[in-house]
Amino acid sequence: MSLEQAITEFRGQFRGAVIEPGDAGYDEARKVYNGMIDRKPRLIAKCTDVADVIAAVRMAKANGLRVSIRGGGHNAAGLGVCDDGLVIDLAPINYVWVDPASRHVRVGAGCKWSDVDHATHAFGLAVPSGIISSTGVAGLTLGGGMGHLTRKYGLTIDNLLAVDMVLADGSFVVASEDENADLFWAVRGGGGNFGIVTSFLFQGQPVGMVCAGPMLWNLEDAADVMKWHRDFIRQAPEEMNGFIAMMSVPPGPHFPQELHFKKMCAIVWCYQGSMEQANAILEPIRAYRRPAFEFFAPMPFPVVQGMFDPIYPPGLQWYWKADFFNELSDAAIEKHIEHARLLPTWQSTMHLYPVNGKVNRVGENDTAFGHRDSLFSGVIVGVDPDPANAGKITEWARAYYDALHPFSTGGAYMNFMMEEGDDRIRAAYRGNYQRLAAIKAKYDPDNFFNVNQNIRPASERVAQPA
Ligand SMILES: Cc1cc2nc3c(=O)[nH]c(=O)nc-3n(C[C@H](O)[C@H](O)[C@H](O)COP(=O)(O)OP(=O)(O)OC[C@H]3O[C@@H](n4cnc5c(N)ncnc54)[C@H](O)[C@@H]3O)c2cc1C
Repeated sequence: MSLEQAITEFRGQFRGAVIEPGDAGYDEARKVYNGMIDRKPRLIAKCTDVADVIAAVRMAKANGLRVSIRGGGHNAAGLGVCDDGLVIDLAPINYVWVDPASRHVRVGAGCKWSDVDHATHAFGLAVPSGIISSTGVAGLTLGGGMGHLTRKYGLTIDNLLAVDMVLADGSFVVASEDENADLFWAVRGGGGNFGIVTSFLFQGQPVGMVCAGPMLWNLEDAADVMKWHRDFIRQAPEEMNGFIAMMSVPPGPHFPQELHFKKMCAIVWCYQGSMEQANAILEPIRAYRRPAFEFFAPMPFPVVQGMFDPIYPPGLQWYWKADFFNELSDAAIEKHIEHARLLPTWQSTMHLYPVNGKVNRVGENDTAFGHRDSLFSGVIVGVDPDPANAGKITEWARAYYDALHPFSTGGAYMNFMMEEGDDRIRAAYRGNYQRLAAIKAKYDPDNFFNVNQNIRPASERVAQPA
């Protein structure tokens, strides 16, 4: 049967939209969040349910088509979409069910975090996630997931109870601590290597109102502020999260006009408690180096989650570099300030997310996620709407990374990486890589799912020269 005939047959079995080159909507459907990515798949299958996912996997397998899995489409490297293959797009599977008694939250794999925040907030709950609400639940969770609630409740995967999955042979399984426990270990950090998750079961946490917002300092005060923060964050109450940002002030109404576009150092706070308690905790930094500007106020948790969304609409050019850090030395701080002065565009930034607290208390080998003993997860992003500036933002991010990498633990959070080669993937997982490769060999021995930060099956045979 030709591929064209197979696609016609597939359309008959598949309930969602099937989009091919030339179809209306093809160019829209192949777009991902990162405007630098321009891939042209042979077919895009918008799955409405598990049956659709199974049909898509079987069709790709039978016809030798490469497969990419798309959740929210936010991946740095654009790994939700592939050239010439089949994009299995889960966006239509976007339900959220909250059980207030158990605080369990069941989430369809096509959801974005805004869907989850909206549904859980009504019950005074939240699932710990990231800092931007338009990010996909699936990709963020499978890589680990870090954000405003991390110090108190751990990574997103530390709040994951079970997943439903379709494997490379088209079979359906559940993975949890009690069922397919090896697979459950692997998907907590190992990304989309092991199968297609169709549904996540999370433990919701009691989070409703928070006190949150940024404090901004002139770069002249940045060294003192960063030195204060590195000591503060090691012993701060876990209800308090504060990530450091090297940034330019957005030209928006929330910021004084005279600061617009100014390069500054910020700490973005999120506190689970009262304003009175928060002010008592933050009084020392205000007294030590008064912020040039601050916007710190009580707000519903979904508002914090959506705070950065207007600054980062879909379709911008993004170039990412990242690493974990165990400390923030005086020498590293100097480098940060040097490269902050060179920020190439106002949307470009560097963030240092604290990953201590609960994250450090889960064992390095308890889940696939590597570098649990770190203090910070750092990410440098060159960002701009204009493709003509792609070179400029890329060079800046690479130079900043080269300067800071010697101070790092040697590996990065895989969700903050572009396609950077096998050594960087191994460095991301450190001692967990071999176990991941063995589990990959069990569940996906032919490396069918390879459009990802790829873990090669332990048994993979390398073609020998004749
Ligand atoms: C603006 C922005 C802000 C971000 N902020 C944070 C943050 O605060 N914290 C954080 O931890 N991360 C953050 N990230 C990184 C984010 O975690 C990754 O980009 C992640 O890959 C996005 O998930 P997605 O579902 O949107 O990605 P997609 O591009 O849809 O998918 C990415 C990859 O995930 C895998 N995948 C997706 N869905 C499935 C599935 N259902 N089953 C199996 N595999 C699947 C596939 O391998 C796919 O290639 C941010 C990204 C952006 C662009």
